[in-house]
Amino acid sequence: MTARLRPDLESLPAYTPGRSHPDAVKLASNESTLGPLPSVAKVIAASAELANRYPDNGAGELRAALAEFLGVEVENVALGCGSVALCQELVQITCAAPEDEVLFAWRSFEAYPIVTQVGRARAVRVPLTEDYAHDLDAMAAAVTENTKLIFVCNPNNPTGTVHGRAAVLRFLDSVPDHILVVLDEAYYEYLRMPADDHPDGIAIGRDRPNVLALRTFSKAYGLAGLRVGYAVGDPEVITALLKVHIPFSVNRIAQAAAIASLEARHELLDRTDHVIAERERMRAALERAGYRIPPSQANFLWLPLGERSTEFGAASADSRVLVRPYAADGVRVTAGDPHENDQFLAFATAPETVARFIG
Ligand SMILES: *Cc1c(COP(=O)(O)O)cnc(C)c1O
Repeated sequence: MTARLRPDLESLPAYTPGRSHPDAVKLASNESTLGPLPSVAKVIAASAELANRYPDNGAGELRAALAEFLGVEVENVALGCGSVALCQELVQITCAAPEDEVLFAWRSFEAYPIVTQVGRARAVRVPLTEDYAHDLDAMAAAVTENTKLIFVCNPNNPTGTVHGRAAVLRFLDSVPDHILVVLDEAYYEYLRMPADDHPDGIAIGRDRPNVLALRTFSKAYGLAGLRVGYAVGDPEVITALLKVHIPFSVNRIAQAAAIASLEARHELLDRTDHVIAERERMRAALERAGYRIPPSQANFLWLPLGERSTEFGAASADSRVLVRPYAADGVRVTAGDPHENDQFLAFATAPETVARFIG
């Protein structure tokens, strides 16, 4: 007889990863197109030789390196098997009763509803504004007695929109300080905001114990395949995260590669300038062709194509460019290498495509 499982899993949406195909350009997962730097690859190879040994469960060396880099204490830093694991752990440390609510904007990072349901909490989705940004006033108004956790994805995946420091602070001031607010900053390294409005979640969280920043080595640092993300916040929240952490889930190679990437950060962060230049080149070309593209502060663009999104994604795949359609909302396109972006633009700005999708 088949084992009896949680009945609610039937309604759990599966996480849809960006598609891959050996003959196609992949602009579907917001990855870095460049492989690890030689210095990082060397460390990866060396740590593979010790694969028979468990990793450091406390990830002492990496946490210390991050604390020094970020100007915080080791007690302020927790690691996760990707920051997506931390998202799930954050639900686990805040929600216990079925009426507990996790609040987030929608559309936003597709892991939020999944980790909320896995954690047996209730998802409360607040629609984005007409400009595809978080509606922070509506989110503050949606807070109830049951709200336990709020995700603010800044910049927002998949729309690329960002709120500056002043808007984030205004929002935080309007939320009761017993609610944990997570500033998910997976694309932090791509931000180019005026210094006085730069939304740095770690700085913002310094004197706000209910604010936690999430960042990752998967995007600008180019280690998506190794799975390491981190949380920076109040020591009590960090300690709780360590309690629910799956032991040894941040593996030895990931820890070593993250330390080496932090050491090589200047080279890695220099790459973000090229990605941003490509993103802006793509945006200009798409707008010239007639698309309306919201300004992005990340390594991708949002094409709000509504009901035509799925069909656009399929047509793009036929042209051997994989992008990420989101049902009735839009299509997310990662800024890749110039030749890859050219291949996408050739498809997207072709007169037939324009006539079919935005005519
Ligand atoms: C990519 C992404 C993450 C996390 O990625 P990991 O690879 O799990 O570290 C988290 N949040 C958002 C919004 C993302 O786009």
